[in-house]
Amino acid sequence: MNDLSRPRELKTGTAGWKSEHDAMLRQAAERAMSFRRALDSRPQKPARSFAEMRESFIAPLPEEGSDGRFVIEELAALAEPGLAAMTGPRFFGWVMGASHPIGIAADWLTSAWGQNCGGHTVTPAAAACEEAAANWLLDLLDLPRDASVGFVTGATVANFTCLAAARGELLRRVGWDVDANGLFGAPTIRVIIGEEAHASVFSALQFLGLGYERVIRIPTDAMGRMRIDEFESAMSQGDQPTIVIAQAGHINTGAFDPILRIAKIAHRGNAWVHVDGAFGLWARACPSTALLATGIETADSWATDGHKWLQLPYDCGFAIVRNAEAHRRSMAITASYLPAVAAGERNPSHYVPELSRRARGFAAWAMIRALGRRGVAQLVAHHCGIARRMAQALRQEAGIRVLNEVELNQVVVRFGGDDPADDILTSKVIARIQADGTCFAAGAQWKGLWIMRLSVTSWATSEADADRSVAAIIGAWRAVQAEGT
Ligand SMILES: *Cc1c(COP(=O)(O)O)cnc(C)c1O
Repeated sequence: MNDLSRPRELKTGTAGWKSEHDAMLRQAAERAMSFRRALDSRPQKPARSFAEMRESFIAPLPEEGSDGRFVIEELAALAEPGLAAMTGPRFFGWVMGASHPIGIAADWLTSAWGQNCGGHTVTPAAAACEEAAANWLLDLLDLPRDASVGFVTGATVANFTCLAAARGELLRRVGWDVDANGLFGAPTIRVIIGEEAHASVFSALQFLGLGYERVIRIPTDAMGRMRIDEFESAMSQGDQPTIVIAQAGHINTGAFDPILRIAKIAHRGNAWVHVDGAFGLWARACPSTALLATGIETADSWATDGHKWLQLPYDCGFAIVRNAEAHRRSMAITASYLPAVAAGERNPSHYVPELSRRARGFAAWAMIRALGRRGVAQLVAHHCGIARRMAQALRQEAGIRVLNEVELNQVVVRFGGDDPADDILTSKVIARIQADGTCFAAGAQWKGLWIMRLSVTSWATSEADADRSVAAIIGAWRAVQAEGT
């Protein structure tokens, strides 16, 4: 037992321990930096399994406290073998983003500053910085400049927040105050949604009492886009208050619903159009992809992530609502002890479900400030270019097929034929790729087939990383074929 590991009492008051705390913070920063430095050379997978990590971590509650420096060292030593390389340059699993160092640095300051965003006049810096980041965001994504923006944990909660505003506003129009009276006895809301909407949107409907089953699901085309004829016919059957949920960026294919046409038809029926654009909305920030996402600005609300394409650290998402008043009405918490809001002032807590939360605006501001409009556009174009490069190289290999039109950053890969019995081949290739660790990719069920999905979302991924990963994927496929079935 070294000196630091001896039981300690928690010290209160600031006398005497300032230098100890500085040393601990520096030590944490050192640990963090050495982890990041090793990301490129280490396998793009955790060294230890979940079961092994449980062995490391699960222990009886300590009776006595320990020195902070010892605890931080112990935490890092225990955790590091079980950390995934999610911010690594060859990690293509799900749609993750990769925490750019600029966002991390701003996030460290945010934690150290410890500002609670519950009141704008109490923490003027946090509130003003968030407002500035919100304005920049609307400019980057070319959405109505007077839309409101809530800084939430991610697209799931952004979807929830936007749909809460939609629910409240649609019912208010027919004389029902859902915020005060709930849904008991309320007029019925119809929800129309694409069959291949992201699972988190269905969760949002679940949280809102709208139900994930009692929705009208619109069939999709080969790329997973809502079929406009089917949508139009569903829309015409009934005239109750309606929420239409469209998607910008399909989780597998990256495809966009035809939102301009959807919104035109929906608005004729006074429906509220919500867009889940967790990553796809960022196509609007890049001239070479903006065409995919034209017309999205005509919707009524938009959910997107900061921790995906913008490379912010977790957790950060944005709930954007055209009707700021409806947004605020559905979220604002008021109490006598909370600061009043003067005309023209924005209180960050009025647009999110939480009262106390970290000041997410600092990291968002820093990341956008560092990239600028041009940097964001380059990032989007770069990821799309890498996706096309990987798709093209994979297509050259016999037995590997790319099933989607690679318009954005997503590549859908199938190994072997279309017979569902061939699913095993794709599963085996994925297992080999993951065991090898050169890159990371994961599988999904899509259109009745097991597929491998590549999502290019890390600022760190270079063309060399893409080529190295493609070689590893082709190597895994050849090995699977060689072992026979
Ligand atoms: C990632 C994603 C979500 C969920 O976002 P979280 O940040 O994980 O909450 C929703 N929709 C789509 C299309 C996504 O890609």
